[in-house]
Amino acid sequence: MSDCLFCRMVSGELQPDVVHETDDVLAFRDINPQAPLHVLVIPKKHIATINDIEAGDEALIGKLYRAAAVIAAQEGVAESGYRTVMNCNADAGQEVFHLHLHVVGGRRLRWPPG
Ligand code: C5P
Repeated sequence: MSDCLFCRMVSGELQPDVVHETDDVLAFRDINPQAPLHVLVIPKKHIATINDIEAGDEALIGKLYRAAAVIAAQEGVAESGYRTVMNCNADAGQEVFHLHLHVVGGRRLRWPPG
């Protein structure tokens, strides 16, 4: 059993509210949404942070963004707009150390973030 929360979702041990899945990527609704749409897109492969992305992972990272675009269209925010965010380590507030792309939308978002 993995002690990584998101690996446990990938394995099926935990069941998030999945909105999109491919062979390489899983996307599910954030348990503490910050906007009407708040989905996390993760690689099924365990990568702890952006700093741990290796040569050879480039296509996989591209698939996270491709999934974000598919989800945005599916959820009806592709034209109105949305934001993708990936936090890295403490100063960015990363809490779960399995790479995840936040897809946030459904309301007017402020900039810059805090
Ligand atoms: O970027 P960061 O690591 O802070 O984001 C982690 C995200 O994972 C948070 O938005 C949190 O609400 C979400 N989360 C979740 N389900 C859990 C635990 C955390 O959606 N069981």
